[in-house]
Amino acid sequence: MDFSFDSEQEGLRNHLRELLDEVCPPEYAEACDNEGRPPREAYDALARQGWFGLILPSEYGGAGATPVELAIMLEEIGRHFEELGMWVFRTLTYGGYAVMKHGSREQKETLLPRVARGELSFCFGLTEPHAGSDAASIATRAERDGDHFVVNGQKVFTSGMDISDYCLLVTRTTTSGKKQQGITCFLVDTQLPGIEVRKIETLGQRAIKTTQVFYSDVRVPASMVLGTVDQGWDAVDAYLWYERLCLSAARTGAASAAFDYALEYAKNREQFGRPIGKFQAISHKLADMKVMLDVSRVLVYRYAWLLSQGQATRHDAAVLKLYTGEAYKNVSDMGLQILGGYGYCMEYPMQRFFRDSRLATIGAGTSEIQKNIIARGLGL
Ligand SMILES: Cc1cc2nc3c(=O)[nH]c(=O)nc-3n(C[C@H](O)[C@H](O)[C@H](O)COP(=O)(O)OP(=O)(O)OC[C@H]3O[C@@H](n4cnc5c(N)ncnc54)[C@H](O)[C@@H]3O)c2cc1C
Repeated sequence: MDFSFDSEQEGLRNHLRELLDEVCPPEYAEACDNEGRPPREAYDALARQGWFGLILPSEYGGAGATPVELAIMLEEIGRHFEELGMWVFRTLTYGGYAVMKHGSREQKETLLPRVARGELSFCFGLTEPHAGSDAASIATRAERDGDHFVVNGQKVFTSGMDISDYCLLVTRTTTSGKKQQGITCFLVDTQLPGIEVRKIETLGQRAIKTTQVFYSDVRVPASMVLGTVDQGWDAVDAYLWYERLCLSAARTGAASAAFDYALEYAKNREQFGRPIGKFQAISHKLADMKVMLDVSRVLVYRYAWLLSQGQATRHDAAVLKLYTGEAYKNVSDMGLQILGGYGYCMEYPMQRFFRDSRLATIGAGTSEIQKNIIARGLGL
């Protein structure tokens, strides 16, 4: 068993770190969060250096890398700015992985080279007002009409819809049978007539934002069905498994940035004539944070390896999502406590980690749902 990265993987990380140090320093992340603007300049800089092609096959202009390299990339992006990681991963998962896995030849040929060049941006529309954790209960309808489908319904929490070219939209095409049946995925052009987008104000993740989306008689060409009509649920499951790796890697990177900041602060801030890090109450917090980070990283790269071997299970995906999400939340919370009153001030970055990390135990499947999955796997 070898837990080390090879020299190419180390080179990849260093190369990306140099780029991000330049185009995505902490002040940039802070400004995007404060001003509610997407990190477009950093996204475009990644595109120019070919990072969006990382996981795509060479025939589409990609580098054909494995999930381990993908995890390295997202961990490093997350360490600089988690929201940039969220934006990048949505495009790589829903525009790259999903199209590679289930796209028609035409979809692959038209979309993948553009994804590889970083010209396109994708988002994911699954959640609805009445279908959150119970995601298979979605009601947004898509009905066949000649060579189109007509979509009607409402989605909520479609993050980045307003800045995406396509939304991987999950719809219901048949109402009879089990709720997991009769589901169909589409690649929907976000500019189609009949789509209305409203931004939602949230506690964190303020640079990219999440949205409510209303679909009224939206005519989507049948050629934009992704995969097989009525059999989309298993595909959604596969995308979510992939998403779990990306999310967890980016969040682990962000958690390590929060940890680094708190550690430095604890070494420099003096009270009662010594650095606060010398108080056991503070040093033990930092020790706990470090252990959580180490475990998170092991889980991220173990899962990446399992995915690359085709051996990842539902249980592995749930353990990863649950642990890394809770770890990010706890590390940011402890970090804020270590900074005392300054942790609570908007001029210091810890509040952003604290706000952003709060989503980690909610979005893309809550911690409670991950525990349900793990428990079911135990026969409970
Ligand atoms: C900022 C943000 C961004 C998001 N981005 C996207 C996106 O891009 N695309 C998308 O499709 N969705 C997105 N989501 C939606 C997200 O995945 C859902 O919010 C999440 O799955 C939970 O659904 P819900 O909010 O409806 O909560 P509910 O399902 O109503 O859950 C409420 C509470 O009940 C608990 N609960 C529910 N069922 C059970 C159960 N069986 N056992 C135990 N506890 C249970 C939950 O754990 C939770 O604590 C986003 C959400 C947010 C807040």
